[in-house]
Parts: sequence; C-alpha cells; structure tokens
Amino acid sequence: MSTGVTRCLQRSSLGHLIKACRYSSSTPSADLDSKTYDLVVVGGGIVGCATAREMLERHPQLKIAIVEKENKLAMHQTGHNSGVVHAGIYYTPGSMKAKLCVEGLKLSYDYFGKHNIPYKKVGKLIVAQTQEQVKQIAELHERGIKNNVPELQLIDKNNIYKFEKNCKGEMAIWSPWTGIVDWSQVCHSYASEFEKMGGKIILNYEVTGFEETKESNGQQELVPISVLSKNNSIKTKYVLTCAGLHSDRLAVMTGCDLSPRIVPFRGEYLLLNDDKKHLCTTNIYPVPDPRFPFLGVHFTPRMNGDIWLGPNAVLAFSREGYRWTDVNIRDCIEMAKFPGLYKLCLRFIVPGLKEAVKSIIYPLAVNDLRRFINQITYKDVKRGPAGVRAQAMDNDGKLVDDFVFDGGAGSIGSRVIHCRNAPSPAATSSMAIAKFISDKLEKDFKF
Ligand SMILES: Cc1cc2nc3c(=O)[nH]c(=O)nc-3n(C[C@H](O)[C@H](O)[C@H](O)COP(=O)(O)OP(=O)(O)OC[C@H]3O[C@@H](n4cnc5c(N)ncnc54)[C@H](O)[C@@H]3O)c2cc1C
Repeated sequence: MSTGVTRCLQRSSLGHLIKACRYSSSTPSADLDSKTYDLVVVGGGIVGCATAREMLERHPQLKIAIVEKENKLAMHQTGHNSGVVHAGIYYTPGSMKAKLCVEGLKLSYDYFGKHNIPYKKVGKLIVAQTQEQVKQIAELHERGIKNNVPELQLIDKNNIYKFEKNCKGEMAIWSPWTGIVDWSQVCHSYASEFEKMGGKIILNYEVTGFEETKESNGQQELVPISVLSKNNSIKTKYVLTCAGLHSDRLAVMTGCDLSPRIVPFRGEYLLLNDDKKHLCTTNIYPVPDPRFPFLGVHFTPRMNGDIWLGPNAVLAFSREGYRWTDVNIRDCIEMAKFPGLYKLCLRFIVPGLKEAVKSIIYPLAVNDLRRFINQITYKDVKRGPAGVRAQAMDNDGKLVDDFVFDGGAGSIGSRVIHCRNAPSPAATSSMAIAKFISDKLEKDFKF
C-alpha cells in the first residue's frame, strides 16, 4: 500500500483504550487502527453525538468515529447551559429554528422517557413588566401558536400568582411544556447508544487539519481524507464537523471563508441561597430584547434543586473563557482584527458596558430580578457557574441567527460538511438537528 500523506499514523502512540466511564480519559485515547472510517464527526458536544447516533441508527453498516479534543464529552456549551427544554415560542414562524425546536422538544421528551433520563416539566412564565412589553407578549403568544407550541396560555396580571406564587408582572405567557434536564447527561446517553451500535469515540484528539491521501489497495486508487491531530491521523471517506466555539476554525481548514466568525459571549449565572429557593418553582423569563439573540436573565430551577439566575451576556477574552481572568492571546488577537466585532460594539456600546458593570458588581443584577420576585435581595445570591456561547457574526457585525453549513474548496471540500452555526436552543433541538443533518449527509454523500 502506498500513501501520499505527509503526516503518517504514528503506531508507537497508538493503542490507548478509551475509558468506559462517562467517556472520560486522562490519557490520549486513540484506539486508532489503519481502517478507514466512512464518516468522522469532529466535536463531542450534543450536536455531534446526536448526529453520529442518528447516522449509525439509520446505517448500522457504516464505520463512524467521533473525535473530541477534550478528555470528556460535553465539556463546553453542552455541559455549561441553563438546562432548559425549550418549547419553541420565540422563533420566527416557518424558520428552521422554530421547526427544529418544536420537533426536538417532542423527540426529547420521548427519548428521556425511553432512556430513564430524569427531567421535570416545571413549565415557564414569560413575564411582561411594562405596557410596551405587554404588546410584545401578545405578539410572542401569537408566534408560539403559529409555531405549534403546545398548550400556551396568556395570563393576566391578577392570575400570575396561580403559576408562581411570588411572581409579579403586568401580563405573562404560561408554557406548561417547558422543562428542565441535564443536557450533558443526554449527550452522554446519545454517545453510549452510539458506542453500543459499534461507533468509536476518540477523546483527547484535537483536529488540526485535513488532507487528502492517495492510496492504492492493489486494485484501485483510493483517496481517503486524513483527519490530522498533533501526533496522529485517522482516515475517513467523509467528515462532519460540529465544533461549537471553534466551528469557524475547522471550516477554514478546508478552504471555507472566515465569515461567519465565532465570537465568544460568556453567560454568567448567580445562585439563589438555600433559604430563598422556595420562591421559585418554575422558569421565569423576561420579555426578550428583540435586538439580541439572547433570551435575557431568567430564573431557572435545576435538576439538583438549585435555582440559577442568569445568564447575562458579556464578551469573553477566550473562546473557553468561563471567568473574566481567562484570557487567550490568540483569541484576543483574532477578535481585535475582526471588523464585525467593532461594528457590533459601536452599535451596542451602552448596553454592553451596563452588562459588564453588572457582571463585575453582581449585586446590581439583582435589581433586574427583583422586578419579578421582590422578596429577593442582593444578600440572597452568590456567584455561580458560567457558559460561553458560540455566537456567529458576519463582517458587518450582524449576529447570525440561523444554521450555517459549509464545505470548502476543491475535492476535499466536496467531502466535508461543517456545521458552522447550530444556534441555541440546539440542545433542545438536538435530535431534530441530527435528523436534519443526517438527511443532508445522505443527500450530499450518497450514504
Ligand atoms: C450559557 C448558555 C445557556 C444555554 N441554555 C440552553 C438551554 O437552556 N437549552 C438549550 O436547548 N440550549 C441552551 N444553550 C445552547 C446549547 O447549549 C448549545 O446550542 C449546544 O450545546 C451546542 O452544542 P454543540 O455540540 O454544537 O457545541 P459544543 O457543546 O460546544 O460542542 C462542540 C465540541 O467540539 C469540540 N471541538 C472543538 N474544536 C475541536 C477540534 N479542533 N478537534 C476536536 N474537537 C473539537 C469541543 O471541545 C466541544 O466538545 C445554551 C448555551 C449557553 C452557552
């Protein structure tokens, strides 16, 4: 067998087996052999795992691998989010986001039931605080109905307490189908099924490039793609990347345009102290500011009984920057060179600065929350965890709010699909997104 690949598989570093326990490993796991996969999925978050599982369920004969740079799955957005099962109220009727969320909601609840994944249908209130927001609430309600969100109700001021005893507002939407779950657990469940069906999960495998390799098996010439990492490479016929916060970097590796770029926005949460937890039994959301794709700081009960308040949205100095002090020089330089970010900052300088001040002096954020439940004071909260959103942005600073798929240049580009933007609520929509991407893989790659 001859090979034209410049970086060869290094047999000496192979043979480490993947640890079975929740797919975590402290050593490079690379049960890599010389076989060529049919499909390699880059990214072990919920979108990659759901899609790999869906593909193997549809095509059990395929050899599929998931490669993930961390030593565990679900380490980034999938493991750092609000844990809400969204019902699909906000999204433009007819959009993919709306369709995939409502479909994903139903598929998710069926899946949780079938696989004994704990969840709670705690419901959700979206509460208007001003007359302007009352108008917006009526529009949101209509949107939700158009999106086929089940059993939505408009609640007048005097009846809000029936859904959340201590919550105040001018009007609200009640969504009984909204729930909570641990999305990281769901992702691990998808991965476990994928492995049981014969799929391979390779951790500690950071993809650094793709290359076409010329090989001959004696009868015909084959041209697999080598998926390269620092010390290894694996071969595959086709590639799907679902790399979240790094999706633009993966896309550039096969000759795609830099745009849309990923700009990281951290979402920080506060934690409600134990003696005030009884004040919140359901999700309480504000009316979202239509200028932003974020849903606003909300009250969210967690599966372990905690109450999270957040997330806010502040620019992060690292794509995986979960704290203000996390600074990544490469990420900062790239952001400093990106004209889209300047344009966005100029447009939103005042709300952006306000958000940053509230993030640093966190008791200030409590004033926003007191409009909903006024028994909460700054003494009742402490700093909690944070997540980082992969916000796709174009060169004009416009936030890209829809799915973006790309391939790249030349013959390699025709065998790679990059999922460059899988916007929130991609956890809720994950099973529907997986079906959508699988249809695309079947069509484009003739699986
Ligand atoms: C603060 C916050 C709150 C949210 N709340 C909700 C919610 O309540 N409900 C909801 O439905 N959605 C929510 N979302 C959205 C949801 O979490 C994400 O849309 C979803 O998790 C995206 O999944 P993913 O697989 O695309 O990305 P990720 O989970 O980020 O996975 C991408 C993976 O790719 C890996 N990777 C990247 N580069 C490479 C490389 N070069 N080589 C190998 N691997 C690589 C990463 O390590 C990572 O594991 C929230 C998101 C955030 C940030």
